[in-house]
Amino acid sequence: MELPFAESFKIKMVEPIRKSSRQEREKWIKSAGYNLFGLSSDKVFIDLLTDSGTGAMSDRQWSEMMLGDESYAGASSYYKMKNAIQELLGFEHFLPTHQGRAAENVLFSVLIKEGDVIPGNSHFDTTKGHIEFRKATAVDCTIDEAFDTTLSHPFKGNVDLLKLEEVLISKGDKIPFIIVTVTCNSSGGQPVSIENLKMVRQLADKYGKLVVFDSARFAENAYFIKLREKGYQDKSIREIVREMFACADVMTMSAKKDAIVNMGGFIAMRSKELHCKASVFNIMFEGYITYGGMSGRDMNALAQGLYEGIEFDYLETRIKQVEYLGGHLMEYGIPIQQPIGGHAVFVDAKRFLPHLAKEEFQAQTLAVELYLEAGVRGVEIGALMADRDPVTRENRYPSLELMRLAIPRRVYSNNHMDVVAVALKNIFDRRDTIRKGLKIVTEAPIMRHFTVVLDLV
Ligand SMILES: *Cc1c(COP(=O)(O)O)cnc(C)c1O
Repeated sequence: MELPFAESFKIKMVEPIRKSSRQEREKWIKSAGYNLFGLSSDKVFIDLLTDSGTGAMSDRQWSEMMLGDESYAGASSYYKMKNAIQELLGFEHFLPTHQGRAAENVLFSVLIKEGDVIPGNSHFDTTKGHIEFRKATAVDCTIDEAFDTTLSHPFKGNVDLLKLEEVLISKGDKIPFIIVTVTCNSSGGQPVSIENLKMVRQLADKYGKLVVFDSARFAENAYFIKLREKGYQDKSIREIVREMFACADVMTMSAKKDAIVNMGGFIAMRSKELHCKASVFNIMFEGYITYGGMSGRDMNALAQGLYEGIEFDYLETRIKQVEYLGGHLMEYGIPIQQPIGGHAVFVDAKRFLPHLAKEEFQAQTLAVELYLEAGVRGVEIGALMADRDPVTRENRYPSLELMRLAIPRRVYSNNHMDVVAVALKNIFDRRDTIRKGLKIVTEAPIMRHFTVVLDLV
């Protein structure tokens, strides 16, 4: 008999979690304004809100914490991080920041001005927020296949090269850079192929543009390339990662994802001049250039996390768990984004609750139902997150209305995944009885989904 698959780690420390009753949860979600961000974590049994900063660090990372150098300038921890970035990702210069959006804020302060246009593949929400905050426009050039959840395509994160070239021609002088998100978070944790990255590089060179990678899940992207792209089966993740980043001039990183730390980020670049310009904003917004909002111990854990995050066994354990959950949902006939993404399973709320109007926020309604059913916290990636058009202030309804179940790294067992799957099955079986969605009571002017207050329609 072939041996079954098992995790590539064992557990050294545990954190108790608590179940609750449906009655309790009804009360709690109401007072949270039907916004799952508003719940305190003790009211959640299985927390799949995000895989960002929620992973479990390894014993090696914890031991690195003890070796942190807290010197204000030139700490050894800074150099540990610098060496890891140079060795693994191939960038000579870098700036630490406290998380991914801070990296965007610093970099975009140098590169973006009012009226600019930034083409890319389904920009992440904070990325788009930082672009629009500067009165610039994000143009989505993702391939059309990404927007049909029933289509199986190995690289749904790919940039549509025709769409990209069209923007490059029509908006040429307004474009400071092209941004490619690996993996593409907003389209369902979908990878971008090496072939596509190379073609984007070629187009960027043709039109004299910089290429920025929004790199939070670069290691998961490399794993998918190894499994799915012709000619990469025998390459190591490390080799694939180097080949990916060879296509970029700059990268921003939320280390809370594939560097498996609870807080941290950075910008890395080839250009010394860009490093110099960005340093000014880093000092203003984040901290001195050798710590940028991070403590020495956190930089140490991040450096160690970069090495662990690109180990094949770790990635296989992680991505197989995501597939495990997705596989069960498919067995139950629940509509999910296919193929299953790297860090999360995305439930297609439009197909789950087709009888609800989009104005009633189908994905948010489903996320609230799942919480009520089992104390599981997912998150809406749909009309609430898509926000209003900055000019017309009309609600934007994206083509995908998804509920994301993001799986923290090295945290939950497959028994937890079973609970999530059965809870969703129960809701799916009684989906016709869900007659009403949600409406907005109050909302913030930008990135409203974090704080929006809702009520039953
Ligand atoms: C998480 C994420 C960010 C923002 O990073 P934070 O650390 O949450 O600020 C940016 N881009 C992508 C693709 C991400 O997944």
